[in-house]
Amino acid sequence: MSANFDILTQRYVVQFECIADRCEDDCCGGWNIPVKPSDESRLLAALGPTKLVQHIVRTPNSAQAPAAMKLCSNERCSLQGSDGLCQVHSKHGQQALPDICADYPRRLVQVDNRLEITAALSCPEVSRLVLFSEDALAFEHGDPSMLPRPKPAQRMLTRSSSYYEPVNDVRSFLIQLLTLPHYTLKERLLMLAFFAKSTRSFFHLEAEGNLGPPLLQSMQNFSNSAFRAELINAFSGEEIPSHLGMSLVERVLHLSTSLRKQPKFTGLIAKAVTTYFDGDSPERPTRVVWEMYREREARMLDTFGDEFELIFGNFAIHFVMHAPYTNSENLLTYAILLLSQIAMQKFLLVSYPGADRDIESLRKAAVEVIYQCQRTFLHTEILPHLYGDLKDNGYVTGAGAMLLTKF
Ligand code: SF4
Repeated sequence: MSANFDILTQRYVVQFECIADRCEDDCCGGWNIPVKPSDESRLLAALGPTKLVQHIVRTPNSAQAPAAMKLCSNERCSLQGSDGLCQVHSKHGQQALPDICADYPRRLVQVDNRLEITAALSCPEVSRLVLFSEDALAFEHGDPSMLPRPKPAQRMLTRSSSYYEPVNDVRSFLIQLLTLPHYTLKERLLMLAFFAKSTRSFFHLEAEGNLGPPLLQSMQNFSNSAFRAELINAFSGEEIPSHLGMSLVERVLHLSTSLRKQPKFTGLIAKAVTTYFDGDSPERPTRVVWEMYREREARMLDTFGDEFELIFGNFAIHFVMHAPYTNSENLLTYAILLLSQIAMQKFLLVSYPGADRDIESLRKAAVEVIYQCQRTFLHTEILPHLYGDLKDNGYVTGAGAMLLTKF
């Protein structure tokens, strides 16, 4: 990861182009679309005052913006046409869109003294570009023209400058661990979890002073191949406890009934979960589902192991760049968030009907699983609930994070 770029981006962002009417989804549903005063002026010029009031709602209590686009009962933006396309865009052009619609799925953030452009996996086209290519996440020079609305970037925030100061070194190190050659992804994730555990006592949001020396010490341990081998060896016999796996499965089962505002996501879960049930056994215990899942996973990894490594390895690197650790209270919380997302998505991918047919089916399923999950994680409380489940079961610990790498 180069710190010398004025604007840093990655290959998939350079390659990205919205595929509009060829897209299997749209960007207009299920979430709050903030309308800032400058967005409102643009919409007013395009739509006129009468139409404008029909399509925005006032949100005086929102910290984001004083208004938002009105959503219909199906949770789509009220300006989405029956063809699924945005009427503002099609009739008035991109210049009339609110900033967030114009830029999505790209995002410009200031990190230290550099700007970064990344893009969200909640867009299926971004998922396609990121997940299956060895060099999708290679670093590239960015350019303001890559964003329709280049504007002063949001700064990556944290209350503690001590926690923020080594941001480039820490992210580089996490990526270094995630790309170490000759290790499996599970082994690389184990090293990341162990590093997070070893920094928990001194590297956190409330920390003060110079955190560089103890951080460097924790990082240096990993430059020693004997240290890495010992760590991997010590955990090689460990298996994920079935009740940890089952609590995740239960959370997924619960979601199929509780998220009415995310019909595509609940449809995805229903599709995956019904593969564990049949007419004779409509109510299999979670323990049986877990055992069936483990058998399927072993079979799929036999055939598609390399593809799983690529998909979830790229997912993890994208996570480090797009969702920086400074948003979490410490690296252990951050690692657990990453690992629980991988676990939930992997469960859905292994369970997806027909994903094991061939590589094309697996990739198609992976895009659907990951973009749908990322949309839902962004706009619901699933991840905090999942984190709460792990905490209640005593897994928000260094040992818990390391066990999650076995999922
Ligand atoms: S989800 Fe992505 S590819 Fe699809 S319409 Fe939106 S920006 Fe374009």
